[in-house]
Amino acid sequence: MSLRARLTLLYTMLVGVTILAFGVTIYHFISLTIREQLDRVLEQTAGEIIKNVHVDPAAGSLVVKNEENLRLADNVYVQLWDHANNLNYQSPNLADMHRPLDPLAKSPSEKVTRDIFIGEAHLRVISIPLSIGSRRIGTLQVAAGLTIVDAAQEVLVRVLIIGTALAVTVTAAGVYFVTYRALDPLSRVTQTALKITRADDLSRRIPYQGPAEDEVGQLIAAFNQTLSRLENLFYTQRRFVADVGHELRTPLTVIKGNIALMRRIGSTDDELLQSVEAEVNRLNRMVGDLLLLAQAESGKLPLEHRLVELDTLLLEVLQQSQVLARGKLTLRLGEIDQVLICGDRDRLKQVLINLISNAIKYTPPGGEIVAGAGKENGQARLTVQDNGPGIPAEALPHIFERFYRTEKSRTRSSDGKGFGLGLSIAYWIVKHHNGDITVDSTEGQGTRFCIWLPLSEGDCSPE
Ligand code: ADP
Repeated sequence: MSLRARLTLLYTMLVGVTILAFGVTIYHFISLTIREQLDRVLEQTAGEIIKNVHVDPAAGSLVVKNEENLRLADNVYVQLWDHANNLNYQSPNLADMHRPLDPLAKSPSEKVTRDIFIGEAHLRVISIPLSIGSRRIGTLQVAAGLTIVDAAQEVLVRVLIIGTALAVTVTAAGVYFVTYRALDPLSRVTQTALKITRADDLSRRIPYQGPAEDEVGQLIAAFNQTLSRLENLFYTQRRFVADVGHELRTPLTVIKGNIALMRRIGSTDDELLQSVEAEVNRLNRMVGDLLLLAQAESGKLPLEHRLVELDTLLLEVLQQSQVLARGKLTLRLGEIDQVLICGDRDRLKQVLINLISNAIKYTPPGGEIVAGAGKENGQARLTVQDNGPGIPAEALPHIFERFYRTEKSRTRSSDGKGFGLGLSIAYWIVKHHNGDITVDSTEGQGTRFCIWLPLSEGDCSPE
């Protein structure tokens, strides 16, 4: 059974049962009230009659005096029985009926009130024992017709049944309509999900016109977010495979060409061998970088946790990098402060090498690169700043992605230097040190990378 049908059934049943319980309560309450009022009238009438009942001293029977003053209503019936169960008096509207109004209460020990059927007639009968002192002298039975009460109750029952049926029908229709409106977006979610599966098209999104903060809105937003994420992942994965393929092709072509050439000339040329070796080294580096990234992204990057003097590390990297910058640009030390952190010295060195070699790679001759180590806001900070071409604003959010290179560096990549993996590796290493890496860049002015790491108190005991 569908959720819509179940909800409709549930709500309809709830409304039906509530109205029914309400109706039954009203029915009982009204019949109780009517009977109470009727009983009061019967008791008053009985009281009037009792005042006029006398015992005939000669015959020992009961007599109702001043009968004409009683002014009994048409639907009120009276019988007076003596102690020997002889009918001594009955109201004229009973004609020649000789059986008691309430046969079961002919000689009651106390007042008895009951509903009685005599033939078709439905009566409310009150039977009151009459006595003088402790001597029983007879029974007075006063009755009133319940026909009007029955008719009123019948109308009430009919109104309640029709009302309940109407309310149940309206509720069922209402709930069906409301749940249709409320659940319709869900069936659209299902249909879109099925279309996505069939068409393999993750670019589709579920449209929703309702309020974004309601449950369905939130569900659709979450689903759309999942789709975006999946689309992103698929796109990244596809791009990754394409990029790896592309990066492998160039060195492999060079290697294949050189080998073919050597075979053709029939000797191993030293220059050709060097070129093959360089390409093999390049491939080796790329595979190494990819393995490192795979480890880092899956959280399985083995890291040492030792005290590292970032200032010393920076000086060391600067010194080693001078050879790359020499004759081309100035590579110098900016601010330097003693900064201690806990981490993996070799990995952090790799991060610094990546940033500094990028700066050297992308800054045109005559440029300047300044690197520094210091503290800010209770954190260690390493900076690498250049006055190179800068990174376009639209590229900034992507530079830490695998294989990402700006258009300019892609076209330059024929020099075979970069794979677009250096910053991804730097990002993951810093992240695994509970740090952060940020970049500020203005096109035409330069780029500044900052690495933020938690400072150490000098103790690097394992966490
Ligand atoms: P690559 O191997 O291409 O250098 P990276 O991951 O190290 O890959 O860098 C990604 C991209 O970020 C580079 O291709 C380049 O476009 C840009 N980039 C990185 N550092 C700089 C810099 N200092 N100046 C300008 N662009 C840079």
